[in-house]
Amino acid sequence: MEHDVVIIGGGAAGLMCALTAGRRGRRVRVLEHANRCGKKILMSGGGRCNFTNTGTTPANFLSANPHFCKSALARFRPEHFIAMVDAHGIAWHEKELGQLFCDDSSKQVVAMLLAECAEAGVLIETSCSVETIRAAPAGGFALRTSGGAMATESLVIATGGLSIPKMGATGFGYDIARQFGHAVLPTRAGLVPLTLSGKHQEHYADLAGVSVHVSARCGKARFDNAMLVTHRGLSGPAILQVSSYWEPGKELLLDLLPEHDIEAWLLERQREQPAAELRTVLADVFPKRFAQRLCEVWFTSKPMRQYSHGELPAIARQLAHWPIVASGTEGYRTAEVTLGGVDTGGVSSSRMESTTVPGLFFIGEVLDVTGWLGGYNFQWAWASGHAAGAVA
Ligand SMILES: Cc1cc2nc3c(=O)[nH]c(=O)nc-3n(C[C@H](O)[C@H](O)[C@H](O)COP(=O)(O)OP(=O)(O)OC[C@H]3O[C@@H](n4cnc5c(N)ncnc54)[C@H](O)[C@@H]3O)c2cc1C
Repeated sequence: MEHDVVIIGGGAAGLMCALTAGRRGRRVRVLEHANRCGKKILMSGGGRCNFTNTGTTPANFLSANPHFCKSALARFRPEHFIAMVDAHGIAWHEKELGQLFCDDSSKQVVAMLLAECAEAGVLIETSCSVETIRAAPAGGFALRTSGGAMATESLVIATGGLSIPKMGATGFGYDIARQFGHAVLPTRAGLVPLTLSGKHQEHYADLAGVSVHVSARCGKARFDNAMLVTHRGLSGPAILQVSSYWEPGKELLLDLLPEHDIEAWLLERQREQPAAELRTVLADVFPKRFAQRLCEVWFTSKPMRQYSHGELPAIARQLAHWPIVASGTEGYRTAEVTLGGVDTGGVSSSRMESTTVPGLFFIGEVLDVTGWLGGYNFQWAWASGHAAGAVA
């Protein structure tokens, strides 16, 4: 065979797998159908790539099997990736909540991965599409590609998810999984802005650009962070995070003042500012336009002294349990990740290898493992890529 390992997909997971296998002396070839590798890395983190999260734990991932990610994450940890970044002299900083970003540019992360691949003797072919794959009778796999036929002992599927189709995302990895008898769990957009419609949209639309610190809750998931009003609905980290847990029909609630005992605070304001109108009092804790809108649409604004004993507690309850009636999400066009994917049930959690087709591996986002916002998805790409690269 002319290759030991062929990796389809030159993104985060594929490149990590390639350099890891290449360092072991394996003859590795990466097939990438776009005209360059790592396009999602380049656009990530607003161009600064949030390349890991120092607080990564399995609890930061969604999967039908929450235990699946544990082994790989435990063996390739954030500090391992940080060591690589440091060895390449890439300056970085922590933004918040353990999220590490390049000081300068995501390009440095792609350049680092490509340099490591080159040093490990990895061949990378861009603008290459895979036409067919079949298991060879004598073992391994035979591929027909736009660059010709090739044979390989191990085949790694690292084609990512469906988000941002214009960046080269395809469902190819899922098709290959099905071809080899693997189950693919239903996919949907994750870390994605929510859309509002009808009167729900009308209430917010002209507030586009306003940001409010909220606690967004869906079921047991809860995220305290900024919510941003957009022209189409709601975005910002708190909404993106909770969007991965939300599906049409599920209740989505906001606590608009998560750091306050709202009732006690309103009663205190009533004592201290009896002549002030509610809208003025709320403008101390919300952007002014947002406070104004709350009083136009949902509450009656009057001087604080005029609120009865029952009214302020009712306002407090409403501020703490604010229902969001989302009509949907913006979908794969703007989603950062794809939930669902290749069922981990048929994949070894330590090797990322199919349990039914020896030599076939799945890594990164194509698998049914999806991280929170904040560097977790790249950490999964590095960890799963490393796990496969160590054995493929
Ligand atoms: C706008 C945006 C910003 C993001 N920011 C962050 C962030 O800051 N931090 C973070 O942790 N995560 C971030 N993510 C998520 C992160 O980019 C992905 O989870 C991660 O890239 C997944 O790695 P992967 O290697 O599995 O897939 P990808 O990186 O998507 O790589 C898959 C590769 O396979 C190629 N491919 C697809 N189909 C084929 C085919 N048929 N043949 C050949 N090649 C194919 C694609 O072109 C691509 O290069 C962001 C995502 C987006 C969309």
